[in-house]
Amino acid sequence: MNTNKSKEIFEEAKKSIPGGVNSPVRAFQSVKKDYPIFIESAKGSKLFDEDGNEYIDMIGSWGPMILGHNYPEVLEVVKSEMEKGTSFGLPTKKEVVLAELVKECFPAIEKIRLTTSGTEATMAAVRLSRAFTKKNKILKFEGCYHGHSDSLLVKAGSGLLTFEHQDSNGITEAVTRDTITAPFGDFEKIKKIIEDEKDIACVIVEPIPANMGVIETSKEFLEFLREITRKKNTVLIFDEVITGFRISLGGACEVFGIQPDLVTLGKIIGGGYPVGAFGGKKEIMDLISPVGNVYHAGTLSGNPVSVAAGIKTISILKENPEIYKTLEKRTKELVSKIENLIQKYEIPATVNYVNSLFTIFFAKDKIENLEDAIDTSDEMFAIYFDTMLENGIIVPPSKYEAHFISYVHSDEDYEKFYFALEKAFEKIKN
Ligand code: PLP
Repeated sequence: MNTNKSKEIFEEAKKSIPGGVNSPVRAFQSVKKDYPIFIESAKGSKLFDEDGNEYIDMIGSWGPMILGHNYPEVLEVVKSEMEKGTSFGLPTKKEVVLAELVKECFPAIEKIRLTTSGTEATMAAVRLSRAFTKKNKILKFEGCYHGHSDSLLVKAGSGLLTFEHQDSNGITEAVTRDTITAPFGDFEKIKKIIEDEKDIACVIVEPIPANMGVIETSKEFLEFLREITRKKNTVLIFDEVITGFRISLGGACEVFGIQPDLVTLGKIIGGGYPVGAFGGKKEIMDLISPVGNVYHAGTLSGNPVSVAAGIKTISILKENPEIYKTLEKRTKELVSKIENLIQKYEIPATVNYVNSLFTIFFAKDKIENLEDAIDTSDEMFAIYFDTMLENGIIVPPSKYEAHFISYVHSDEDYEKFYFALEKAFEKIKN
């Protein structure tokens, strides 16, 4: 496969963009590649690079593309919205429509605010929790990623894990001190922290972590968090930036039947355009300015193009419940075939999945938390990534990320995936 143009662009990119990329995982560094592929366009389940190569996309822009790229009805709405103007700095009726649509799917959300990214949504949710409880600290879980605001970058997943630093430089000691971390799923430790520490404003959790690879959550654990936070007057935040509208219309809240105090969203609710949102109980949300005194704002918050794409995407998902059923069925089949190939080639690997999210971990035993995820093979993952790429399949360039499949991935796409996977496993075996 010829990727010379990508190589040239990367050399050029490094002169003006740190590391040549605008988000670290995109550099392909952790899968031991000298340069990433540069994407020229996308359609349906496919990406096309600058050299004209075609790839089956298993990244889906890290989640938003549940309907695939440029789904015709979404594209149509976006085009017509753009002709009306792309940013006004004043409210639009469509924002109300999107707010109402999201509320219908998430009963925990009584009021909602739009942002431009998931990072802003979680940052605002934390600030709001502090104002509501008049407490300072936050409890998060090792390997969960909630965007790149200071207090949430402590022991975070995603790109931080990929580059082997779990905390970022440039964050003050005071901020770091106010973020307490615990291993995901460790009932005892978490109980002790929450009982001993009186100053915890919120517990923030990816209800199904997907930024240390996918971790399968037990309902029991989330119920435990709900119970303990309720008792301690601590706000429970479900960060559903990935899981919201991905694992079902009502995300993990619906799947597990749990009502957190606040929910953060992003990705799918913008249909592939920049967006984020946080929402929850009225009494908490009404602390936001201009009703209350907690500041949150944004030049492009509620951007009309993103909002129109979001409304269309959610409406399609809502009107076609078979989409989630199909995605679940296809992922189950996919995972079962991957597991068969793991056995056939005797590869020390295991798969975690939830609806259309999955991660292949190169380790024998079940992966349940960050420690397990770190302890998986980098070398095998790099061979897997490389072989898939050579065979026209782009999988996440990090062992700590999820694969995201879309509704428009075809049988032929899956067949090509299995074909490439056999080649990858053959190489790993040798
Ligand atoms: N929360 C979760 C669970 C995420 O996975 C991400 C990003 O991947 C974020 C928050 C941050 O969202 P954004 O990248 O839109 O800032």
